[in-house]
Amino acid sequence: MIDENALHDEWDREHLWHPYTSTIDPLPTYKVASAAGAVITLADGTELIDGMSSWWCACHGYNHPRLNEAAERQLRDMSHVMFGGFTHEPAIRLGKLLLEMAPDSMNNVFYADSGSVAVEVAMKMAVQAAISRHGDHRRTNFVTIRSGYHGDTWNAMSVCDPVTGMHQAFGPALPVRYFVPQPRSRFGAEWDEADMAPLREVLDKHGHEIAALILEPMVQGAGGMWFYHPEFLRRAAAMCRERGIYVIFDEIATGFWRTGRCFAWEHAGVQPDIMCVGKGLTGGYLTLSAVLTTKDVADTISRGEAGVLMHGPTFMANPLACAIAAESLSLLREQDMGAIVARMEAQMVRELAPAAALPGVADVRVLGSIGVVETREPVDVGRFQRMCVQRGVWIRPFGRNVYIMPPYVITTEQLSQLCSALIDLVAEATA
Ligand code: PMP
Repeated sequence: MIDENALHDEWDREHLWHPYTSTIDPLPTYKVASAAGAVITLADGTELIDGMSSWWCACHGYNHPRLNEAAERQLRDMSHVMFGGFTHEPAIRLGKLLLEMAPDSMNNVFYADSGSVAVEVAMKMAVQAAISRHGDHRRTNFVTIRSGYHGDTWNAMSVCDPVTGMHQAFGPALPVRYFVPQPRSRFGAEWDEADMAPLREVLDKHGHEIAALILEPMVQGAGGMWFYHPEFLRRAAAMCRERGIYVIFDEIATGFWRTGRCFAWEHAGVQPDIMCVGKGLTGGYLTLSAVLTTKDVADTISRGEAGVLMHGPTFMANPLACAIAAESLSLLREQDMGAIVARMEAQMVRELAPAAALPGVADVRVLGSIGVVETREPVDVGRFQRMCVQRGVWIRPFGRNVYIMPPYVITTEQLSQLCSALIDLVAEATA
């Protein structure tokens, strides 16, 4: 039996904010001592099989010898130096790798601090480029689809789903964007042309005010864990291009093989003008993101009134983070990631299927290394996590989505344990 008291820290409970929890009645937090591979070890020695990849970033698992070594090597040279007026080998190495993996249309790389900041930068780029391209200062708004999630900073929040995007509390304080319904045509199912009508309507009516369409390609993550039809992406991008509107793909959650392809846009074959990557970029070691653009976007910004992109964070292109990220991308390129993720997908399709028979379950879906069991009623996170820890797994549901997105190093046996625990726990939680 697990001694819960040994795992909860009173001082932490009194003084440290944890995400999305009350300071008056906080959700439980478990003290972690170490992590290696796909296993997280708690302070009392309890081992948990990781189903979350630490919010989708630890793609190679924890404590990876190659990533550790890359960090140690870089520390011996320098951990940080400003990027204004300087450049360095880790930034160059990472940039080359990123552009080799990214869509052909991408030519310029801007390093930022986190996923949310990458979204801020992408939106700033779109506005500067749109004003410069059209010579029209009204081209400053955005269109997006419902149930999206793009981060916690102000502009990123403004394009998150107003209800499921976790930012309802700020409603009237946020800039007002155009939202169209989430495409209901599922990934792998029939395409329904009706999905295009709302976007066409908004673009016809308000296109002249819109700098860009921003969306998560194929997989909507934290706003609802929904997998939609690639045709939506193709048609939406074409509609935008006809009207001189830029297309931003937020690949922060979907990038680096999560959906079975290196980037999710590959399912649709349509390339963006601006693309954000983050999360798995450093293999989950440090916070780093990048915004990639076409040469046209970059040069259009540079021809604009400001002449430069107005953004330049202190920790831009942090060498330590870049060195680790370059090693992480090399690791991905050395492996047959398509086959690894296809194996995870096939196993989750097989082993999560029985969940569909549970009375409390509305839907089961799997794409790449993402497995989702959607319940009919919201799940009590605190109770669910307590049950997870007792069972030796780590799954953190939100709303009606109980999902797993394990590190790629997870073994077949570990993934089996995770899938069967998920089904049992959902059965118990929804009973
Ligand atoms: N975009 C997407 C699609 C995300 O899933 C997230 C994080 N969940 C973000 C942006 C924000 O990234 P970060 O938490 O690193 O700021």
